Amino acid sequence: SENRRNRSDSRSKAAFEKAKRFIPGGVNSPVRAFKSVGLTPLVIESGSGSRITDIDGQTYIDYVLSWGPLIAGHAHPTVVEAIKRTAEKGTSFGAPTELETEMAELVSERVPSIDIVRMVNSGTEATMSALRLARGYTKRSKILKFEGSYHGHADSLLIKAGSGVATLGLPDSPGVPESVAAHTITVPYNDLESAKAAFEKFGGDIAAVIVEPIAGNMGVVPPLPGFLTGLRELTTNYGSLLIFDEVMTGFRVHLNCAQGLFGVTPDLTCLGKVIGGGLPVGAYGGRRDIMEQMAPVGPIYQAGTLSGNPLAMAAGLATLKLMNAESYQLLERLSARLQLGLENSARETGIPLTINRIGSMICPFFTDEHVINFETAKRANTERFRSLFAKLLDRGVNIAPSPFEGLFVSTAHTEADIDSTIEAYKDAFSELND
Ligand code: PMP
Repeated sequence: SENRRNRSDSRSKAAFEKAKRFIPGGVNSPVRAFKSVGLTPLVIESGSGSRITDIDGQTYIDYVLSWGPLIAGHAHPTVVEAIKRTAEKGTSFGAPTELETEMAELVSERVPSIDIVRMVNSGTEATMSALRLARGYTKRSKILKFEGSYHGHADSLLIKAGSGVATLGLPDSPGVPESVAAHTITVPYNDLESAKAAFEKFGGDIAAVIVEPIAGNMGVVPPLPGFLTGLRELTTNYGSLLIFDEVMTGFRVHLNCAQGLFGVTPDLTCLGKVIGGGLPVGAYGGRRDIMEQMAPVGPIYQAGTLSGNPLAMAAGLATLKLMNAESYQLLERLSARLQLGLENSARETGIPLTINRIGSMICPFFTDEHVINFETAKRANTERFRSLFAKLLDRGVNIAPSPFEGLFVSTAHTEADIDSTIEAYKDAFSELND
């Protein structure tokens, strides 16, 4: 394999060994440890554009992009400049700044469902707060979520969850009281009939349905035609709220988020990742009458010392302003090129592969089957994924260390990046046959 390099990981190994002495598992978020792929994680030195460099001095084309936020690539000069300029004026005040209003105005202009929006510090906070609001507003306790979806790690949402908990096989985490879990109903993604059946049984008790409008934590699974509109009707009929968790899809798949792409408008929307431009941010917003149930206007409580942080607002605003209709066309072209190249490579090397893609969210599954939910996603060959992952690293391509995560493309990726990535995959595929 001509593309293969002699990858060294001695510095990363030593650094990771030290990290394990002081940090549980050596990481501040579980999948970073590369446990399920059985390797030492790359310990990162820097990133620039489409590339990251590890402390062993090796550079990789990066499709993780901090798990989604870096839609304009690593250390985009405009974003870095905005952070620097803002930092010089002070990093946090715990008092209103105009940057927060600028962010809220931009988000409410671009996201169809959002009249007003509250900033928080992570996607987890966004979904947790949206659920509290939905429960407070409807005066109901139950929520409905979909198997293999991940909505952050709040107690109510760590039930049959995707992402890292699926990767590590812990979809129902210890530490979540049964009395809390009992209020979470789960049904398969894309299964409107099961959602209807749940409403027939529990309808009057269901505060909200929370859904990733494109599932991105069981690999990438687009909604089947009618699924999202069906959920819209169902929730309206039963007086429940529809919450779109667009933490991953928000500003990733379309200038107006997945709801703009599909033309389905939820009551509440959760955001994160891209709106923070690589700094810690989340947000939840929606209909004014619902959102104004939150303190200080209404009685439902949620707060945050660093919420609306100036640096995060500056990085997020700079990133959002870089994105326009042409940026999404560029992402579509690059991502379609990647998809086609991988499909051809798989065919030529005799590897069964199904690729799900919407815009710059792409997921190759090692299977012949259509992947429409968590069950079908889990039937793809995960042993093969492990092997592929290592071979891609050896060829200078960094993807998420889990078959339940897709690849992200940024506007900093070039056609040359895409083409060498396709070469790396093809080379890796040919070795999977042996
Ligand atoms: N919702 C979705 C759809 C996500 O993909 C994620 C994170 N991958 C979250 C919520 C949680 O966000 P955070 O990691 O910022 O807490």
